[in-house]
Amino acid sequence: MRKTIPENGTGWPELEPQLDRFAAEAVDWRHGRSPLFVFLATESAYDVGKNAFFKFFSENALGGKRAFQGLKRMEDDVLEMALSLFSAPPDAAGNMSTGGSESIFLAVKAARECFRALKPGMRHDLNMVVPHTAHPAFDKAGQAMDMEVRRVPVRADLRADVKAMASRIDERTFLLAGSAPCFPHGLIDPIDELSALAIDSGVWLHVDACVGGYVAPFVRRAGYSLPAFDFALPGVRSISADLHKFGFCPKPASTVFYREREDYERQIFDFDDWPSGRFTTPMLSGTRAGGAVAAAWAVFHHLGAKGYCAIARDLMEMTRRYVAGIEAIEGLQMWAQPDLTLINFGAPDLDIFAVAEGMRTRGWLPGLTQRPRGMHMMMSLVHEEAREAYLGDLRAAVEAARAGRASGAAMKATY
Ligand SMILES: *Cc1c(COP(=O)(O)O)cnc(C)c1O
Repeated sequence: MRKTIPENGTGWPELEPQLDRFAAEAVDWRHGRSPLFVFLATESAYDVGKNAFFKFFSENALGGKRAFQGLKRMEDDVLEMALSLFSAPPDAAGNMSTGGSESIFLAVKAARECFRALKPGMRHDLNMVVPHTAHPAFDKAGQAMDMEVRRVPVRADLRADVKAMASRIDERTFLLAGSAPCFPHGLIDPIDELSALAIDSGVWLHVDACVGGYVAPFVRRAGYSLPAFDFALPGVRSISADLHKFGFCPKPASTVFYREREDYERQIFDFDDWPSGRFTTPMLSGTRAGGAVAAAWAVFHHLGAKGYCAIARDLMEMTRRYVAGIEAIEGLQMWAQPDLTLINFGAPDLDIFAVAEGMRTRGWLPGLTQRPRGMHMMMSLVHEEAREAYLGDLRAAVEAARAGRASGAAMKATY
């Protein structure tokens, strides 16, 4: 029997405890037991984001131009502040979206429109050339828009192999991509080399800074050295960066930007042939949460550049302590030294999935990578209080795996 909407309604006092029971089924992410999905900076940034979100709970950002002008102004503010982080030239433009997948979809669409405008005879069988470590959102866009994705193996150091990527470009390649950083290993691809390749080959370069975009500029400002990845490199045509990750803004919120307004306009949907008149949206979604716009505006103003910088420093130092703790456990090895705050490690002569299974039975949600086989964590400040417990359990799980008391057979790398 299929469930039906209950005949009689229920008041909040009875609903709330039921919702609390659903929430209690989750992994204990507030205490750092999930290595992905949630991001938390300070308690006050969390509260500000939540309060701002609920102030604009009913408003629809789709109506920002005609009905909710204040929302439109906040969105424009957020975009301008974000552009200033990415060395954007004066003519740059972009918009908010519901997430990294949508931002990537939009950039892919704009790049395709650009290609078709330049080569009107080549409308179909187009391809994108991306590193093997690129996010699946490129494939999602490729499937939806019927375009091939060529995933190119990375170098031994797990960064994009630009020479190998160059050899996969042909006359129907409309997009190159690199990550800053990639999700699996937390490494920034050699975007400077990709930029040079983009200029040489005339192919559009998209930089996927979904996970790193709102932390990398502050990490650099806090004094850490990071390779360039933004519009400062002349071949970079578009950038995606998620507010709802290390921007610490409530979901759903991302941004996508273009070096030139003309390129931005290629992603816009503009339609008139239906009874209700002209319908124009730059993004994939129609109706959009006004709360997400207001919250991003409020969190930017609440934290300020200094607040983001302090968080960036804390995250980097915490990541360093995690790396040191992991390297101190015999048998474990970092697969890469993280550029930012995503870590990936393995065990050359142990079954790391057995270690992961051991962590699962100790109450941690293990993040996994399949090539190379490893464990993965994306750091938030909630992971600081969990550090000693995590490292202690990790050591115990390694010993159990070495003694053959744990099996990794049940584990599969899943996002
Ligand atoms: C998270 C992520 C995405 C996709 O973003 P969603 O908001 O989950 O759609 C794309 N690229 C990278 C590198 C990411 O980490």
